[in-house]
Amino acid sequence: MKLLEDRIEKDGRVLGEDVLKVDSFLNHQIDPDLMVALGNEFYARFKDEPITKILTVESSGIAPALAAGMAFHVPVVFARKHKSLTLKDNLYTSEVYSFTKKTANQIAIAEKFLSSDDKVLIVDDFLANGQAVEGLIDIIGQAGATLEGVGIVIEKTFQKGRQLLDDRHIRVESLARIAAFENGHVVFAQD
Ligand code: 5GP
Repeated sequence: MKLLEDRIEKDGRVLGEDVLKVDSFLNHQIDPDLMVALGNEFYARFKDEPITKILTVESSGIAPALAAGMAFHVPVVFARKHKSLTLKDNLYTSEVYSFTKKTANQIAIAEKFLSSDDKVLIVDDFLANGQAVEGLIDIIGQAGATLEGVGIVIEKTFQKGRQLLDDRHIRVESLARIAAFENGHVVFAQD
């Protein structure tokens, strides 16, 4: 998606070997117009699927997931990373290793928000090693819901997440695909 690639080139910052910082439009400060465009693009790509729910993980998946939910007119559910007084019983949970924090987190979704009738589109900001998406797929399995596909804002093709999902024949649509970081610059994959 050209609009997104242009924005990554303009405002993204490469950190080290494998991290892209996009905190000026996606992960900290959020560009709402860009989010709406991303949501519409996810809709264009998945509109033929009978999506009933968008699933993501807090916090940086919420903005693009909400935009997708607005385009599909379906509810958006985000898995929470911390239990609280209001979220402790009747949960689906899964263990997720965080790429950016280098720690394992439990993610949780209340059972009442996901059922075997649901046809789910997962949306997340990044696909790196695929752990966040795998955790959500685990939860979808626990609920007996159906996974229709995975929509990713920024995929790093040089990490193993995409291959993991391809091996399982899961449909993945990524709006920007990064093949490499070279001398602090982003190299996009040629589709
Ligand atoms: P994975 O579970 O696929 O290894 O990593 C996905 C999660 O890690 C995303 O939800 C995102 O929050 C974070 N992440 C992975 N790679 C990057 C990156 O290059 N930049 C930023 N800002 N977050 C990333």
